[in-house]
Amino acid sequence: MRVILLGPQGAGKGTQAQRLAEKVGATHISTGDIVRAEIKSGSELGKKVQEYNDKGELVPDEIIVEMAKPYLDDADAWLLDGFPRNEAQAKALDQALEDIGEDLDAVVALEAPDDALVVRLSGRRQSQATGKIYHLQYDPPPDDDPGPFVQRDDDAEDSIRRRLEIYHDQTEPLKDYYSDRDLLITVDAEQEIPKVTEEILGAVRRKEDA
Ligand code: AMP
Repeated sequence: MRVILLGPQGAGKGTQAQRLAEKVGATHISTGDIVRAEIKSGSELGKKVQEYNDKGELVPDEIIVEMAKPYLDDADAWLLDGFPRNEAQAKALDQALEDIGEDLDAVVALEAPDDALVVRLSGRRQSQATGKIYHLQYDPPPDDDPGPFVQRDDDAEDSIRRRLEIYHDQTEPLKDYYSDRDLLITVDAEQEIPKVTEEILGAVRRKEDA
């Protein structure tokens, strides 16, 4: 299975990619996680990409493509979360797939209105003890997670608005790019998490059988 999850920040791409990866035995590749791991390592590359990450700006295409490529080549089955984010990256992915003689199965667009996304993102907190993600209002941390609970640098209000603006300008047009190739599936991301997973799985299987 080779599936791209498209969607704005806060639509639940990471959550769904993780759930689907477990169900179908595919690898969850998140370029955001790759960027954050590089920053955490303190490498020169990490320092370079941190400026973009913290402001909510995109890392330049040639850098992110180089960072993502080894992961794409390594796994036979994957769910791509956060990549591609614009047409240049989509073309780089097409080329990478052509080089290894593989095809995309489907592109899933998770959809939710901006206002709902801002609420989801601004309340998001991660436990430094367990790595688990919570929401202050909708999914507060349980008593047995000692925390502390920290906010991602790019989940500050200014960065959230900037990231959504970039999504609408640069990433959303990819829906047309993939629907022209009959690969696009759209799913309402405001539904309950298991319902979203079920819809995605059903639609991807129908595409694979078609
Ligand atoms: P995410 O967790 O997907 O929101 O990614 C966090 C940050 O990593 C983004 O705001 C960008 O700075 C960087 N990043 C992740 N994926 C990409 C990508 N495909 N292209 C450019 N920058 C990216």
